[in-house]
Amino acid sequence: MAFKNMADIAHIIDGKAFALSLRETITDQVPRFVEAAGRKPGLAVVLVGDDPASQVYVGSKGKATIAAGMNSFEHRLAADTSQHTLIELIKRLNNDDAVDGILVQLPLPKTLNEQEIIAHIDPDKDVDGLHIINAGRLVSGQKAMVPCTPLGCQILLKDYLGDLSGLNAVVLGRSILVGKPMAQLLLNENCTVTMAHSRTKDLATVVRSADIVVAAVGRPQMIKGDWLKEGAVVIDVGINRLAPTDSAPKGKLVGDVDTDGAMPHVKAITPVPGGVGPMTIACLLRNTLVAAHRRNNMDDPIL
Ligand code: NDP
Repeated sequence: MAFKNMADIAHIIDGKAFALSLRETITDQVPRFVEAAGRKPGLAVVLVGDDPASQVYVGSKGKATIAAGMNSFEHRLAADTSQHTLIELIKRLNNDDAVDGILVQLPLPKTLNEQEIIAHIDPDKDVDGLHIINAGRLVSGQKAMVPCTPLGCQILLKDYLGDLSGLNAVVLGRSILVGKPMAQLLLNENCTVTMAHSRTKDLATVVRSADIVVAAVGRPQMIKGDWLKEGAVVIDVGINRLAPTDSAPKGKLVGDVDTDGAMPHVKAITPVPGGVGPMTIACLLRNTLVAAHRRNNMDDPIL
């Protein structure tokens, strides 16, 4: 699209490049842990069933873990695995000293009770930050395992903006995985936080009050450019696939924000793809290394 002049073009926050540099920093810190502990940090990933997207995610998490110099333990179970069998596996992983992080790939098949499974993960190995103990630790300002996606958003925001204190932040979406921990992280950074969701009235006006917008709704390009305050910083978490076209036979990936419409208004924005997504995997590695240090009574690594 055409812009009036260069000053109108927003800064693109390059999550891909940032994630790469975070992964390099993590990789550099692994040998220090190996020297102190006499073993590599280890991440166990559990996949139940054969959902193609989940298989891809699990595969790339395993590769990234090994590339960082850590051990990856993959447990691929059949779709008809029982609740009891899965809980027994979690208990074994909890007691396995070589395992610092446990991630159960979600969603689980409908026959399984996700909440009960997550409740069985040792909170200190809960690198996805989904255990209620970690949610409680985050709210009460204690050292927690923080869900990877909102943690990645927080890191990008702090890198771009520095001190977030006093800024108005609007988080769209209130899921346990993204929206709620995101709002809490921003509150911990002394932002004034508004949480918006499907029952929020006059969403455009709410969004227009924000210096920081984090969109985690799962609705393609829902947030329009003229909803955004001039100079806002926008983190687009959404990953939505549009219907296939001749030029994009697999369907184009877009975020929750109408990026082209937003660009003339905002100061900075994350692209989709290449924004928040790569940060999620980098933060999984970060959480695994942090969990390994804490389990070994070492100070947190400087990342
Ligand atoms: P959920 O479906 O769990 O939550 C969506 C949230 O959006 C809900 O709180 C819902 O409100 C709210 N919402 C839905 N429709 C509207 C609307 N019209 N107006 C305002 N709010 C609305 O999704 P997730 O949090 O798991 O994920 C959100 C998006 O982020 C998805 O696109 C997902 O693919 C992506 N994602 C990306 C990741 C990454 O690594 N980049 C990782 C995780 C997720 P209510 O609660 O009222 O129903």
